[in-house]
Amino acid sequence: MHTHHHHAPQLLTFEDCIRFHGHSCPGLASGYRAATAAMEALGVTRPEDEDLVAICETDACGIDAIQVIAGTTAGKGNLIIRDYGKHAFTFYNRKDGKAVRVTFHRNEATGNSDFAALRVKVFSGKASEKEEEQYHGLMHKATVDVLHAPAEKIMTLERITMDEPKTARIFASVTCECCGESVADAKTRKVDGKCVCIPCAEGMHPAKRT
Ligand SMILES: [Zn+2]
Ligand SMILES: [Zn+2]
Repeated sequence: MHTHHHHAPQLLTFEDCIRFHGHSCPGLASGYRAATAAMEALGVTRPEDEDLVAICETDACGIDAIQVIAGTTAGKGNLIIRDYGKHAFTFYNRKDGKAVRVTFHRNEATGNSDFAALRVKVFSGKASEKEEEQYHGLMHKATVDVLHAPAEKIMTLERITMDEPKTARIFASVTCECCGESVADAKTRKVDGKCVCIPCAEGMHPAKRT
C-alpha cells in the first residue's frame, strides 16, 4: 500500500482530507473513520463510479472527509445531505444493496459543557491567549482520539436494510423567461404564465436584485 508504483490504486489518507477541508478537526476525523469503517464493512474500495452512496445527517466538517475517502461527492450526486445535526453517516452499495449506518459516541475532550463554554469564548474573540491555547489543545486531542481510538470505543456501525436511493437524474435544459439563463427544466416555476428559474420566481436572482 505504500508503493508509488503507478499501476497501484491511489489510496487517500487523512492528510488528503485536511488538504481538501482546509484544517484538521474532530469532525473531519469522524468522517474519515466513518468512511473507512463503512467501506471495509461493505467490502468496497474507493469507487470511480457511483455505486457507493453516502447519506449524511450533518452538513458539517465530516462530509468533506467522506467525499475524499469514499468518493461520494456533491457533484456526482452520490452524497445526500439530510442535515439533522447528527454525526451519523449511512453508506449504501448499489452493487449488492447492502448498507451500514455509523454513529459516534460523545467525545470525552470536547463533549462537555466546559468545552462548549470555552468554544463560545474563543469564537466571540473574548478568550485569553491561554484559553485559546487550551481550546486548540483540546481540539487537537479530540482529533487524535477520533483518528486512533479502537472503532468500538468511538462509534457504532450497524448493518441496516433500506430502499435504494434514487439515482441522480439528468434533466433537459430550458431558458428562464426572466433572466435568460439556462436552467434544468425540473427546477423551474410558472409565474404569470412564464417559465422562470427559482431565483427569478423568488425575486432573489443574484444579478437582478434591486
Ligand atoms: Zn473542520
Ligand atoms: Zn431566471
